[in-house]
Amino acid sequence: MGKIRVLPDHVCNQIAAGEVVERPAAVVKELVENSVDAGATRIHVSVHKGGRSLVGVVDDGEGMSPDDALLALERHATSKIVTAEDLMGIRSMGFRGEALPSIAAVSRFEMVTREKDAVSGTRIVVEGGLVRSVEEVGCPPGTRITVRDLFYNVPARRKFLRSADTETAHISEMFLRLALAHPEISWQLVHDNRTVREFSKTVSVQDRVIQVFGASVAKTLLAVDHPTPHGTVTGLVGPPELQRANPRSLFLFVNKRPVKDSLLTHAVLTAYETLLPKGSYPFVILFLDVPPRLVDVNVHPTKREVRFRDPTLVVDMVREAVARALTEAMKASWNRSFFVSSGAERLGDPRAVFQEASGALAAVPGDPPERAPGPPPAGIQLAWQRESREPFAPPPGAPTEPVAAPTGFSGFSSLKILGQLACTYIVLEAPDGLILIDQHAAHERICYERLSLGMGSKASQRLVRPAVVDLPALEADALKRWIPELQAVGFDIEPFGGGSFVIHAVPSALKGADPAAVIRHVVETTPGEERTPRVELLQNLAHTAACHSSVRAGQRLSLEEMRHLLSELDQLHVSATCPHGRPLWWKITLEQIQRFFHRS
Ligand code: ADP
Ligand code: MG
Repeated sequence: MGKIRVLPDHVCNQIAAGEVVERPAAVVKELVENSVDAGATRIHVSVHKGGRSLVGVVDDGEGMSPDDALLALERHATSKIVTAEDLMGIRSMGFRGEALPSIAAVSRFEMVTREKDAVSGTRIVVEGGLVRSVEEVGCPPGTRITVRDLFYNVPARRKFLRSADTETAHISEMFLRLALAHPEISWQLVHDNRTVREFSKTVSVQDRVIQVFGASVAKTLLAVDHPTPHGTVTGLVGPPELQRANPRSLFLFVNKRPVKDSLLTHAVLTAYETLLPKGSYPFVILFLDVPPRLVDVNVHPTKREVRFRDPTLVVDMVREAVARALTEAMKASWNRSFFVSSGAERLGDPRAVFQEASGALAAVPGDPPERAPGPPPAGIQLAWQRESREPFAPPPGAPTEPVAAPTGFSGFSSLKILGQLACTYIVLEAPDGLILIDQHAAHERICYERLSLGMGSKASQRLVRPAVVDLPALEADALKRWIPELQAVGFDIEPFGGGSFVIHAVPSALKGADPAAVIRHVVETTPGEERTPRVELLQNLAHTAACHSSVRAGQRLSLEEMRHLLSELDQLHVSATCPHGRPLWWKITLEQIQRFFHRS
C-alpha cells in the first residue's frame, strides 16, 4: 500500500486555518468582510478576552438560506465567484470561500442566519470542524456568527496568542481600518461588555475620520483627490508634523480593501521625502481605486497584500496624488506667512505656522525657491544639508544626524542678537558668520530636555485651579492608558467619570502652557492603538507645549525674550536638532557669504 493519502476535509480546513486565521483579529476581519459583502448597514462586533474566548459578529445583511448556510461551511464554497475568469474582476471583499470552514475548524462555532423574506432562520453549530447541529430558529434577518474558544483544539496555536490587551489592540486596529473604508455602515465594537468604538453611519470618509480621530485632527488633514485614466486616489493626508514613529498611522486601501503594502507605503513616503525625519511616518488615509483587472488580490491568504499589473503606474499615481495635496497646502500657508509676517496679525492655526517653520516648503517638488544668479555658495556644511541635491535650497526638514556645536562656541547668549526674521528665526552675529535659530524648534528642544530631566525628580507644579479636559471615548481610553507615563513626568491627572479628566499638577517644564489644551492635543495627535513609548510621548508633549507657548513660530519676540531663550538653549547639553529631528540652528559662514559676493 502506498504512503500517500488524501487528507480528510476537516484536516485540510485546519491547515487552511493556519494561514487564514492568524489571530482573533483575523476572525474579526473575515466575518466583518462577509457582512460588508452581504450588504449590511449595521455591523456589531463583540469580543471577550481579546477574542480568545469569544468573537461575535452580527449584521443586518442579506442572510443565507438553510442550504446556503450549510454550503458556506464547505471548503471553497462561495457565492462571490463562479469561474476562474471572475478572479480578474473581484469587487467583493471575499472570494476564496475559505474563511468560514477554516474558522469553524479551530473553534466552537455558531451561525444563526435568516434571509429577509424567509419566515424563519437557521442555526448551525460546529465544533472543531464537525457539524453538531442544524436547526430552524426564529431570528432577525441577517447573520450572527459566534466564535468561541479559538484554537481550543490546536494547543500549539493557542500558545502563540499574545496577551488579551495585545490581541484587543489588533482587533481594534482591524475594526478601525474596516470602519474607515465603509462610512455608509454603522459600526459598534464591544469589548468585555463595554462599547469601545461606535460610529454611526455617515456619508463620507471625511465624516468618518472626524468620528474616529476627532475634529481637531481631521481639520489639519489635507484632502487628496487625484483622478487619472488608470484609477483614482482619494483620501486625507496629514501635515508633516503629524508624524509618527511607526507605520501604524498609514491607512491604505485598494478598492476599499485595507492593505499593508510595501509598494504603496513606499509611494507615500516618497511624496513626503524630505518633509519627515528618517524613521518617521506620516498620518495618511488613502484610497486607491483601480479597475479590478489591474490588481491581483489573490496573492495572500488573508488578502492583506496585493499585486499590481503595472506597479510603476501605481507608485507614480499615489506619489503624485499625495505630493500635490502637500504642495498646494504648503503654498497656501507660505503665501499667508508672507503677508502676516509683521507679527501684528497672527496666523490662526499654530500648526500652519509650524509647518512653515519646519522648512517644509523647501522640499516641495517643482517649486524651487527664489535664488540669486551666479554659482551657489559651495559647501554650506550642515549635517542635514550634506545630502541635499540642491545646495542652496532652504533647509529640508530631514536631518540625518545632529550637528556639532559651532567651532569656538561659547554659548549662543554670548553672541550679538541682530534681530528676528519673519517672526520665526533669531538672527545672531557669530565671529565667523551668521547664525539663524529656529525659535520654535529651540523652544521645543528646551521643553523636551526639561521634561526628560524632570522625570527622575518628578518636578511638578500644582495648579491653583485644577483644569478639566473632556475627551471622546476613544481618546479618553488612550489617555487612561498613558496616565502612569504622564505621572512619571510630573503630571497629576485622574479620570473623573465619562471622558473627563482633572489635572491637578503639570511638569514644571510646561508651566505657562494651557494644561487642558496640551493634554487634548497630545491625545489627538497620537493615533496609535497600543501604549505609546515614553520617548514619543515626551516628544509629543514638548511639541505641544511649544506650540501653545509664546515662543512658537510666527510670534514677535522682545530682545529680552530672545536673550532668555538663548541662555536656556545654552544650558542644554547641546543637541542641534529639535526632538523631532529638525535642525535648531543654521550657520552661514562669512567665507560662504564672501564667496557668494565674489569677494574671495
Ligand atoms: P468568501 O467570503 O470568500 O466567499 P467565506 O467562507 O467567508 O468565503 O463565506 C462563504 C460564503 O458564505 C460567502 O460566499 C457568502 O455567500 C456566505 N456568507 C458568509 N458570511 C455571510 C454573511 N454574514 N451574510 C451572508 N452571507 C454570508
Ligand atoms: Mg469571506
